[in-house]
Amino acid sequence: MEIFDPKPVTVQGFEIEERILKAAARAEENSESAFREIDRTARFNGEKVLKAFINNKVSDACLKGSTGYGYGDIGRDTLDAVFAEAVGAEDALVRHSIASGTHALTAALFGVLRTGDKMVSLTGRPYDTLEEVIGLRGQGGGSLAEFGIEYDQVDLLPDGKPDVAEIFKKVKNAKVAYIQRSRGYSLRPSLTVSGIAEIVKAAKGANPDVIVMVDNCYGEFVEREEPLAAGADLIVGSLIKNPGGGIAPTGGYIAGRKDLVEKCSYRLTCPGVGREAGASLDQNKALYQGLFLAPETVANALKTAVFTTNIMNLFGFETFPAPDARRGDIITSVLMKNSENLIAFCKGVQKGSPIDSFVSPEPWDMPGYDSQVIMAAGTFNNGASIELSADAPLREPYAAYVQGGLTYATGRMGILCALQEMFEKGCLNMTSLRV
Ligand SMILES: *Cc1c(COP(=O)(O)O)cnc(C)c1O
Repeated sequence: MEIFDPKPVTVQGFEIEERILKAAARAEENSESAFREIDRTARFNGEKVLKAFINNKVSDACLKGSTGYGYGDIGRDTLDAVFAEAVGAEDALVRHSIASGTHALTAALFGVLRTGDKMVSLTGRPYDTLEEVIGLRGQGGGSLAEFGIEYDQVDLLPDGKPDVAEIFKKVKNAKVAYIQRSRGYSLRPSLTVSGIAEIVKAAKGANPDVIVMVDNCYGEFVEREEPLAAGADLIVGSLIKNPGGGIAPTGGYIAGRKDLVEKCSYRLTCPGVGREAGASLDQNKALYQGLFLAPETVANALKTAVFTTNIMNLFGFETFPAPDARRGDIITSVLMKNSENLIAFCKGVQKGSPIDSFVSPEPWDMPGYDSQVIMAAGTFNNGASIELSADAPLREPYAAYVQGGLTYATGRMGILCALQEMFEKGCLNMTSLRV
């Protein structure tokens, strides 16, 4: 039996165990072809975004904001057009005043659904925060259910694929067919745009009038096309994830078919006013610049993700997706096997963060979750998960959900800090490592 002899090495002042660094070098070798593909996608999307800026004549005046009602805000209106072009939409609403992804999804659902309509989720139970919006949990908040909107769902098959036969049955009399692209807090695979195309085909085959809405959170710019190219009618997401590029301080977007975007605009402000009002204050520049940087920022997050899967695999931790799987989002879940590993990993990610590196995250009873949750997020924008972050409910199978990395260098070092913390807490088996 090999005796493990610790040898800490100092890298720019970070003290990291030699074997972790060797594993990092191997993980990077194993990531090379994926990195090249990520760079090609980033170039394609970067060019697309640049062309959208040029075609829509973004000017210096657009970067200035408005106050009061915000009538005639050229910066806000032009940003909508640039964003729409970049994601292949007829129209878009991009607003700092959208509080979160859940808020954007809520405005979109209330925008297009009316009493007596039915919404069907085609990808199983939606993300946790949507449950109270739909009315699956809680009462008195004015959920869709309280407004007489029916909900049904089609669960994914055990292999994570859509259940086409069930979709066909349930979408027949539905107004909205809802698809969640990302995995959320589950181990199911994220959907690629071609996977979404299959679902859209089944849904529209059953009911050509059904409005297909995609929760696009974490998916923007991961591939060359967005779900609208796959036939979806609306896509919705958060600006403190992918499309804000790490620069947008807050906000969300709704994009897609013009008539539907207009309906959503009346929920965003009020009937009759819609998108005509809504001061951009001094947020335009950040939203433009964030969109401009987003393809590259997403590439950095994806590289950090691929590196994470490869290095965690070397240490014997299974990841979803596997290192070489096609991705539809930036999230990686790492099966940490037990709560000690999980907590050490998250504390290490925090130690390697630019902001609040000196605080130690603790598991807590977060509202809306049925087990304790630990979150590591040392971010410039509060809660921004395009920045390196890790969170995990403390329950079987002890999966850490890791995402982000504004730059690859800092994302990679964040992961190395996590492994170092695991090593120091006796959570890494160094002798079984073969590098
Ligand atoms: C982040 C996210 C949302 C929205 O969450 P907010 O915290 O409200 O921005 C919705 N769906 C999925 C899949 C998400 O990842």
